[in-house]
Amino acid sequence: MKLYNCKHCGNALYFENSLCLKCQHNIGFNPIQMTMVTLETRNNVDFSDVTNNQAKYHYCENASHSTCNWLVKADQAPFCLACSLNRTIPKLSHDGNLDKWKRIELAKHRLIYSLLRLQVPVNAKIEPDDEEGLAFDFMSDTSKGKRIMTGHANGVITINIEEADEAIRVQHKLDLGEKYRTLLGHMRHEVGHYYWDVLIKDSNYLDQYRQLFGDERQDYSEALNSYYENGPVANWNDSYISPYATSHSWEDWAETWAHYLHLMDTLETAHAFGIDIYPTQLGDNPKMQTEIYQDPYTIKDFKQIMDMWLPLTFAVNSLNRSMGHIDFYPFVIAPAVLDKLQFIHDVCGANRLN
Ligand SMILES: [Zn+2]
Ligand SMILES: [Zn+2]
Ligand SMILES: [Zn+2]
Repeated sequence: MKLYNCKHCGNALYFENSLCLKCQHNIGFNPIQMTMVTLETRNNVDFSDVTNNQAKYHYCENASHSTCNWLVKADQAPFCLACSLNRTIPKLSHDGNLDKWKRIELAKHRLIYSLLRLQVPVNAKIEPDDEEGLAFDFMSDTSKGKRIMTGHANGVITINIEEADEAIRVQHKLDLGEKYRTLLGHMRHEVGHYYWDVLIKDSNYLDQYRQLFGDERQDYSEALNSYYENGPVANWNDSYISPYATSHSWEDWAETWAHYLHLMDTLETAHAFGIDIYPTQLGDNPKMQTEIYQDPYTIKDFKQIMDMWLPLTFAVNSLNRSMGHIDFYPFVIAPAVLDKLQFIHDVCGANRLN
């Protein structure tokens, strides 16, 4: 994520801000220009850019629920690009659902930001049942017997909103023996399945994909049943980013894709802050040093990205441990996983970086 500032007073802003806390100007994100815009308004409905009063906007309709701070050009659709992907939102009459939905939207907006930076296609389904395009269903269990399963099918990403309840999410994490479980992680994983359809399924990459991730034609439900019965293969961390990635080729892709988005977004943030890592107590060890000198989305050579990533993760893990938190980055990347990440970087960058 980039670091933004208020164009009126210079105050630093978070991506989620809709108000500058220093000068009280309204703030919104323009997903076309990928910038935070400082706004002025006479009626709290129509807004214009303080640096260019010809640029006129309204907030996305979901701003009325405080679930979105993205802008839409005046006279255009009520919903922003990110919210136009919503097909089902939780019933807001139920206690606690608005708070859960807010947390889900925070994660979803960050996901969409990353997809826009990668310049992969982000298109909403025009009709709810269209074959093409992306849509989100945010739902809760309707009754004890009928569980809503978080997952992806034909571009529809379903999230069970109970994952936005931290106690429940941590319980699932412990039950499944996971080291990392977040809403943003779910979003990144599920959308990975969608981009397999978009970028790999009918492409020239399919052979190379199968060499790296295995054959996706293996029966999916049998593979998953077997995984839940028997657990991951021994020494899974020699070839996979997570135990779950061992369950089926598609899950390996989605887990690795999510991981790729984690590292690109985090490195972009580190770059925005000008973070350099030069440990004072390790002597001259180039493997532990880095200058995050370039926006990772503009780097073609994946090795350069990894050279920045590993010292950064060691430093931030150490900061977390100093605060008594668990590791920010509880992963080890084996060479085979590096090859898979490299492949995703090449596929995503094929148009953007050439
Ligand atoms: Zn300000
Ligand atoms: Zn919106
Ligand atoms: Zn999956």
